[in-house]
Amino acid sequence: MQAAVHLCEVGPRDGLQAVSRTMPTADKTAWLKALHAAGLRHMEVASFVPARLLPQMADAAEVVAHALTLPGLKVQALAPNLKGVQAAAAAGAQVVSVPLSASEAHANANLRKTIAQAVEEFRHIVAWRNEMAPALQLEAGISVAFGCSMQGAVPEDDVIRLAHTLAQAGADVVGVADTTGMANPAQVRRMYRSLFAELGNADDEGRPGKTGGAHVHNTRGLGLANCLAAYDVGVRSFDASMAGLGGCPYAPGASGNVVTEDLVFMFEAMGLHTGINLDRLMAARAPLAAGLPGEPLYGMTPEAGVPKGFMPTTAMQGPST
Ligand code: ZN
Repeated sequence: MQAAVHLCEVGPRDGLQAVSRTMPTADKTAWLKALHAAGLRHMEVASFVPARLLPQMADAAEVVAHALTLPGLKVQALAPNLKGVQAAAAAGAQVVSVPLSASEAHANANLRKTIAQAVEEFRHIVAWRNEMAPALQLEAGISVAFGCSMQGAVPEDDVIRLAHTLAQAGADVVGVADTTGMANPAQVRRMYRSLFAELGNADDEGRPGKTGGAHVHNTRGLGLANCLAAYDVGVRSFDASMAGLGGCPYAPGASGNVVTEDLVFMFEAMGLHTGINLDRLMAARAPLAAGLPGEPLYGMTPEAGVPKGFMPTTAMQGPST
């Protein structure tokens, strides 16, 4: 059965890099294995950044190597510059996501670059990829596309213009991220309608374009609502993090990305096939908890339990062939 929506688990990257403690490599690989067993076939597993800046990701190459042993898994990594992209490609990552910012304040704080300098770096990355690693898929990820904790509101036109520039520069896919959890469903609908008009939709099977999936944080509890709004206007790929791992440095006590377990429950309950087994997904919380004892694990569905009579889409439509 073909999945109606595609989920990319980003907890091993977005979640773990926001947690102050470092998860041991063996625990990371056990967790990835459990996520794969639950049916996840796309994961962002590591960041290729200097270990002195992000010791949580010092084992990035090792984690990518392990992820490549999991059958059928699309292995994605994040890298902020050419050096990182080269390291990710050497480790075997099939997709590299390169973060850029929609606000100058965030670009300066996060990348120590102006937006123009980050675009210039992206052009160098594309040139290198075209010559040295033509099979590598490059995704440009626009951070703080829905609002910035430093700048405040981010004009939609700024995001669309940057997305257009990055697509022209050679990005295979351009994604927008609600890094700060400031988005609302009306804004999400407007943003994706504009992006699809400008770049097309990467998930449009008839006429694939370049707009990538939704990446939202649940900082203010609107993660599911924003994913649903994105789905309603045609988005079919979603990033999510098991247990909402991560948090937000500007909002103490807030969870990180939209919770994978809740998102799978929502889509499956709507009759939209995710390819993910909810029971096995719940079981994958155990290796995560074991690797990060004491770390808060979020999620409404895991806390409340799967409701009586809930039927996953695989059961509704018979076993897959
Ligand atoms: Zn994020």
